[in-house]
Amino acid sequence: MGIVVQKYGGSSLADADAIKRVARRIVDIKKAGHDVVVAVSAMGDTTDDLLDLANGVSPLPPAREMDMLLTAGERISMALVAMAISDLGFTARSFTGSQAGVITDSVHGKAKIIDVTPGRITQAIGEGHIVIVAGFQGVSADTKEITTLGRGGTDTTAVALAAALEADVCEIYTDVDGVFTADPRIVPSARKLDQVSYEEMLELAACGAKILHLRCVEYGRRYGIPIHVRSSFSQLEGTWVVSDPGSRAPEEETMEQPIIAGVAHDRSEAKITVVGVPDKVGEAARIFEALADAQINLDMIVQNISAAATSLTDISFTLPRTDGQNAMTALARIQAEVGYDKLLYDDKIGKVSLIGAGMRSHPGITSKFFGALASAGVNIGMISTSEIRISVIVDENAVDDAVRATHTAFDLDADEVEAVVYGGTGR
Ligand code: ASP
Ligand code: MG
Repeated sequence: MGIVVQKYGGSSLADADAIKRVARRIVDIKKAGHDVVVAVSAMGDTTDDLLDLANGVSPLPPAREMDMLLTAGERISMALVAMAISDLGFTARSFTGSQAGVITDSVHGKAKIIDVTPGRITQAIGEGHIVIVAGFQGVSADTKEITTLGRGGTDTTAVALAAALEADVCEIYTDVDGVFTADPRIVPSARKLDQVSYEEMLELAACGAKILHLRCVEYGRRYGIPIHVRSSFSQLEGTWVVSDPGSRAPEEETMEQPIIAGVAHDRSEAKITVVGVPDKVGEAARIFEALADAQINLDMIVQNISAAATSLTDISFTLPRTDGQNAMTALARIQAEVGYDKLLYDDKIGKVSLIGAGMRSHPGITSKFFGALASAGVNIGMISTSEIRISVIVDENAVDDAVRATHTAFDLDADEVEAVVYGGTGR
């Protein structure tokens, strides 16, 4: 009994047959006696196609109109899934994010959910309907405009709905069997994790593992929603994201948690270097204030020791490539004030991260990681660490080699190939 919230990604909804298959899965849950609420993504590569279309019309489309355009993708899916369900003799009601009560802040393109008021959903459930919600979108409390949650945001819609509806579980259906020790598209011998902690999953997602949207994991952790990541193309048990891995395993199987959860990579970042910054109090503050005002999320930051002779230093940082232009403009504006020499922009970089809660208590992880990179001939550009993660910036073309070498060095390769990529173009 109870409410089951499910999410189906674009590759699970690629065409009419796929939609009918998903509808059958949804109906099976309903038949088993559960109430079902489903968040859907846009079909296949629809979102990318819409983005291409927008860029064909305008090099710099207004953010508001971009959100109006992109939310259409999920509306197509929700209506088609509802139709397929009704064809199976069940009734479904589809709702846009706004109708479903997904309230966000007003930042177009990367809005944050601030509240969920699911009145219409609970009413529809009460009337016996299956509920289908358009993912990745909401409505701003202030401006009343339609917003989107950022790429991959349907995961977050699903977990936010699960929290608001006090669901027992949030099932995320995708095109692989769960969370793997590395992207199976790069490492075919990657292993499926049966369980992973929220904190490890947060690092994996933040470091480019596209399997789950970062904010969905944050949401799950905050509200204690178990997230079950699994394939819509198979009936296999997937990966459980929970607070305490091991607690779900039968006692005799409980053993020490593995040291490393996985290797993640990210090709979506760029690096900016501010060259020749006067080594004075307040300069870094001024630079990062300008970037914060431009709403730019930074990742790694490195400041070199200033050269004694010149009292000048270089500050480098990484950021999403999509924010590159904005950041360069914001920094150019303060050049005279800060008195730096010039800006360098490099988007031919990639980030490779090693993640595992066991790192805290195991020495030698860093040297093994760097040793693996060295043997693979990969040069390290920047380094950053957290308690349970080590990340390096490398040349974009070296990312695949770096991931494979690291995966092997930490004995993560499966004996038999387990990873099946059922669908999706990986776009
Ligand atoms: N359709 C959106 C995207 O492709 C949202 C999602 O898939 O979750 O990013
Ligand atoms: Mg998508």
